[in-house]
Amino acid sequence: MLKKFDHEIYYALKKEVEKQRYTINLIPSENIVSKNILKVVGSIFTNKYAEGYPGRRYYGGCKYVDVVEKLAIERACKLFNAEHANVQPHSGSQANMAVYFSVLNPGDKILAMDISSGGHLTHGVKVNFSGMLYKTYFYSVDKETELIDYEKVREIAIREKPKIIVCGSSSYSRIIDFEKFSKIAKEVNAYLLADIAHIAGLIVAKLHPGPVNFCEFITSTTHKTLRGPRGGLILCKNEFKEKIDSSIIPGIQGGPLVHVIAGKAVAFKEAMTKKFIRYQNQIVKNCKVLCEEFKNRNYRIVSNGTDTHMFVIDLRNKKITGLQAQEILEKVGIITNKNLIPFDKLPPSITSGIRVGTPCITSRGMKEKDMIRIVEWIDETLKNRENEKMLKEISKKIRRFASEFPIYP
Ligand code: PLP
Repeated sequence: MLKKFDHEIYYALKKEVEKQRYTINLIPSENIVSKNILKVVGSIFTNKYAEGYPGRRYYGGCKYVDVVEKLAIERACKLFNAEHANVQPHSGSQANMAVYFSVLNPGDKILAMDISSGGHLTHGVKVNFSGMLYKTYFYSVDKETELIDYEKVREIAIREKPKIIVCGSSSYSRIIDFEKFSKIAKEVNAYLLADIAHIAGLIVAKLHPGPVNFCEFITSTTHKTLRGPRGGLILCKNEFKEKIDSSIIPGIQGGPLVHVIAGKAVAFKEAMTKKFIRYQNQIVKNCKVLCEEFKNRNYRIVSNGTDTHMFVIDLRNKKITGLQAQEILEKVGIITNKNLIPFDKLPPSITSGIRVGTPCITSRGMKEKDMIRIVEWIDETLKNRENEKMLKEISKKIRRFASEFPIYP
């Protein structure tokens, strides 16, 4: 039907399915959802308006929507051992916005990780609402170790007295010590927000310590290691429940995306299974092998390793920029994304590094031995980037290899 009615969209979808099937996706913020999640996200729940919250909506006909949202909330709380969950944020950015709007006034101070060390746009970057509305201060990683220097964070916090401290990152590959952040926040009387967008799945599997006992607020996306539909999530203590809920609606959103909330509910249920815990363990195992293989081939890894699902490769010794590497790798069927390295001299549109991770390829069933082949192909591609014939051969091998793994976990 779609094929006949809207051939352009049908064609783009068909090609996207092919691309996902025949390529190796190393973007650490992406994943592939189960058929059950696809089913509810593509369901008629998309037809329903449901402004408000379960039992107190501004629309009639919300009986079944209430069932869905209540389940999503209950499951999120259980999964993360949280007192309250808001499952309505349309994205991770909106989750962060809602937290800021709940306790900050324009002009208040935020302290967060700078973008080249791994911070996100919504952590106070000037071109983002968070940098426009608030006075932002940044902590970086240590220049030598490329690890968070908690003493420096403390020094800045004492000096600037921020109203909120943000910990959590888009490309920091090491364990984040939420307890240390909490001590600093308490010392300066600041709120603490842990943005666990990337590591939520690892936290569920206890492969990364959880922040619940240390923070007033936790935000997350649901589509990265958590392997749910594209969306956001806020967890908080009961004392902030009303503030957070009203910050979402009427504060910054209207009707929730009920079909996506249904997908989140299914994802939370999946995350409670042993299979999911095994999956998270395999993500980390794969990532460690991937990282070691790069090191064996003389690639410099930011912070010299990883504890998580991802890491950043500094490409300066390979005489290629992040952008060039991303483009040449895409040509052979390996999808990565260019990424700043700490204190990068190049702009975000070019960068000196690429960020790689294993959530997606692990969902497809790839294991340690496959990581070795992937690094081999990446290395061969970057070394032979002028050799069209060689690139074609690598591309063929990758296509054959990738097609052996299913695109539904
Ligand atoms: N926070 C962090 C740490 C992220 O990495 C991201 C997304 O990459 C977000 C928030 C924002 O998520 P979204 O793209 O869903 O707005």
